[in-house]
Amino acid sequence: MRRVSVFGATGSIGVNTLDLIGRAPQAYRVVALTGGRNIALLAHQARSLRAEVAVTAHEDCLAELRAALQGSGVEAAAGAKALIEAAHRPADWVMSAIVGAAGLAPGFAALRHGSTLALANKESLVAAGALLLAEAKAHGARILPVDSEHSAVFQALAGERIEEVERVIITASGGAFRDWPLERLQAATVAEASTHPNWAMGQRITIDSASMFNKALELIETREYFGIAPEKIDTVVHPESLVHALVGFRDGALMAHLGAPDMRHAIGYALHWPERADLPVARLDLAQIGQLSFRAPDPERFPALRLAREVMAIGGTAGAAFNAAKEVALDGFIAGRIGFMDMARLVESVLSDMSSRQGLGNAARSLDNVMATDAEARALGRERISTGRI
Ligand code: NAD
Ligand code: MG
Repeated sequence: MRRVSVFGATGSIGVNTLDLIGRAPQAYRVVALTGGRNIALLAHQARSLRAEVAVTAHEDCLAELRAALQGSGVEAAAGAKALIEAAHRPADWVMSAIVGAAGLAPGFAALRHGSTLALANKESLVAAGALLLAEAKAHGARILPVDSEHSAVFQALAGERIEEVERVIITASGGAFRDWPLERLQAATVAEASTHPNWAMGQRITIDSASMFNKALELIETREYFGIAPEKIDTVVHPESLVHALVGFRDGALMAHLGAPDMRHAIGYALHWPERADLPVARLDLAQIGQLSFRAPDPERFPALRLAREVMAIGGTAGAAFNAAKEVALDGFIAGRIGFMDMARLVESVLSDMSSRQGLGNAARSLDNVMATDAEARALGRERISTGRI
């Protein structure tokens, strides 16, 4: 029986992960499940999969979690420390599906035990890619990508040599506003930005898809995870979301990965790797689909893509600053404090504030180093929002 833990179990990726695990419960022993304020769902998951421990990120939810788990034999815990402790419980496979930089510390802890880390939390790679890979290497642990594009690249690279890769293209659906004119974007509402044409995902990544900050994170994620030079990485808008990524080789061959827009593909691949298993996902009927379309992203409507290039050029801790500034900008947009296009303006201002100081391009020496950069970017971003200097 494989011991598995799921961080962010109550979110979109977490629920899909437990859907796959729950289809073969005899094959798994569920160690830890974690969530936020949706205690009813967390307790239901923990009871039905007989988890060892359920952890809520919020200490004020502990009493409710305890009550919901009464008599089940599942331990209850709460708070940031409890999350890390849960990550120290030995497990063979750990899903990292907390949203945001909050997912970093549990991922590091899991790697220290040599667990295979299925990484949906792209923020970890953007903020601390080099450290995370070094941690995995030091403990003989493996990181498997769960983002659909990166799982696709990983699969296209199987049996290939990385030196022979000429380019990597990750596709973008274009999000909710792919056909909106630039003039309308600033007035876009949170509700409008929270709908996705093809994927059902958590609200934050859905809004990041509308602004293409998600693709910006994914460009950096590609660079960090596969070690491919930024100039070899590109993105193309593909409204159907059926081709997830393409890898081009020195002989001109381009290997594409296709599949239905269902995260259980990428999650299932990481869960069963290096084998493949039957997955409950729709099969594509190409004749019925008829056509696939591609177009270049509009740099004016999606400045986040240019910012990602700047971050990759700076290197070092710029990714941590970028991710944190993006999280603060997104909070500001969701709270109605800044407009849609202000998110990119704010991130750009924070990056420029921070790059005028020394050291942004220096490699992070430790997770504390990363978290200090993260905290500085958040403070600068919040200050700019509250003083209206965006
Ligand atoms: P979600 O918002 O649906 O779920 C997030 C989970 O994290 C929930 O369980 C929530 O309780 C928990 N959480 C939130 N803030 C937390 C905090 N501060 N501390 C501890 N736990 C916290 O998000 P999601 O869409 O499932 O995305 C999860 C991660 O996977 C993100 O990094 C996202 O970028 C990535 N991802 C998601 C998809 C997708 O299809 N949803 C695809 C690719 C990558
Ligand atoms: Mg993706």
